[in-house]
Amino acid sequence: MAISDSLTPFTALLGDGGVLTAPDMTARYTLDHRELMQGETPAVLRPRSVDEVQELVRLARNQGFGIVPQGGNTGYVGGATPEAGCRQLVVSLERMTKVRAVDPLNFSLACDAGIVLADAQAAASRHDLLLPLSLGSEGSCRLGGNLGTNAGGLQVLRYGMTRDLVLGIEVVLPDGRLFSDMCALRKNNIGYDLKQMFIGAEGTLGIVTGVVLKLWPAQSHRATAWLQLAADAPLPEIAALMRRETSDLISTFELISATSLGLVSAMRGAEIGLATGPGGAVLLELSASSAHIPLDDVLMASLEALMERGWITDAALAQSEGQRRAMWAVRETIPEGEKHAGGSVKHDISVPISSLDKFLTRGGAIVSQQLPGVRLSFYGHVGDGNIHYNLVVPEGQDRLTFTREVEAGIAHDLYAVAIDLGGSFSAEYGIGRFKRDLLRRYSDPTRLDLIAALKHSLDPDGLMNAGALT
Ligand SMILES: Cc1cc2nc3c(=O)[nH]c(=O)nc-3n(C[C@H](O)[C@H](O)[C@H](O)COP(=O)(O)OP(=O)(O)OC[C@H]3O[C@@H](n4cnc5c(N)ncnc54)[C@H](O)[C@@H]3O)c2cc1C
Repeated sequence: MAISDSLTPFTALLGDGGVLTAPDMTARYTLDHRELMQGETPAVLRPRSVDEVQELVRLARNQGFGIVPQGGNTGYVGGATPEAGCRQLVVSLERMTKVRAVDPLNFSLACDAGIVLADAQAAASRHDLLLPLSLGSEGSCRLGGNLGTNAGGLQVLRYGMTRDLVLGIEVVLPDGRLFSDMCALRKNNIGYDLKQMFIGAEGTLGIVTGVVLKLWPAQSHRATAWLQLAADAPLPEIAALMRRETSDLISTFELISATSLGLVSAMRGAEIGLATGPGGAVLLELSASSAHIPLDDVLMASLEALMERGWITDAALAQSEGQRRAMWAVRETIPEGEKHAGGSVKHDISVPISSLDKFLTRGGAIVSQQLPGVRLSFYGHVGDGNIHYNLVVPEGQDRLTFTREVEAGIAHDLYAVAIDLGGSFSAEYGIGRFKRDLLRRYSDPTRLDLIAALKHSLDPDGLMNAGALT
């Protein structure tokens, strides 16, 4: 049967606007965010209800199509990109964006999985509540994608990764059945925690259609500082001291290297008014929901403790919301700064925070030895041991060629250091299509067996996101 004929039942189910086939309409769904992989799809399906998702899954199975769930298509590892020649339909939940319920007394929020993260945050904030999941892409990524990748972000140190925030889930399984577990309980010991199976599964076990998330009191009071680090400032000790001195009121502890700041400044074509010390800079934020907690005093006292030890050379405190935003804007636009400079090859590494300095020393030595002159833009959520360790594409070099060279060469040496220190080659971006080889290389056979067994038991025909993760 011709593909167009096979798509007729989908149009009958979803209507004309629910099935996109024209190349100019599907283009933005078939290219991955980093523009490393040009995929291909017979159609993008845009259901409006859970029933429609169930029905389209059954139809896809009958018509011999595969499925690639997609949220905002901001993922960094090609997990949402349909593979050329593989008859994979993209299922986008962008028309399933409802807030289903906010329960301010239970501190929980139930939403459709297609809602944009920033809209879910706003729904919480209208009730003076906080949804702490916060990423640079929050204006376009969607909750289904956040669950699919188990996203981390800027406040993991205090609130945990996505999987720590999820109370309940609703998933359309590869056979079209609905696993509805939109439970808003904190305590519910009824055996296996099945929802966790679908978090970080990258769309390989089903399509997440709904989610219940934990909320916190809105953090209405903040104290924010930009710290200039001394040479050889010990990051693990600084982070540990700050946690103790502030009684764990830190919500953000972000490292920014001099190169990363320079890229942002070059992109803006102007001085930023913030500087790094010899050891880089840290954007630090304390937050609380109550004015009774003297955050500024706590911050000042703890910074004095850092000064006394000679770990920081200077500190600027945000005196207004405008100054705070200006500090944050630097951190949030580093990826754009890298793009403006010609792009970067990203290494999303984590190590136990106690080993962070060791990683930076050993990694830096590898880069300067193997790629002298290549700019190293490292920054990230150091408070939780996660560092984005990115090599800026040298001027005049083709981005894709450089990416391939790095990924076939030095990347393995950097990952080997991380793993030697008890770390990971994928802290928060996942496996997708770009890191499958690494998963095989660095996983013991038992882990791979368990992954295969789980996939086979839920999706024996490989309908869901074939080519990603498993
Ligand atoms: C500027 C920028 C900053 C970023 N910062 C961070 C960061 O700090 N921390 C971080 O973790 N990531 C970050 N990312 C990466 C990315 O935003 C996250 O991985 C995000 O969670 C992806 O969400 P998405 O909706 O775009 O998912 P997509 O890219 O569309 O999909 C990602 C994966 O989830 C699957 N998926 C999507 N929807 C569903 C669904 N409904 N059901 C089942 N599976 C589904 C897809 O198949 C795919 O495997 C950043 C990206 C950018 C561009």
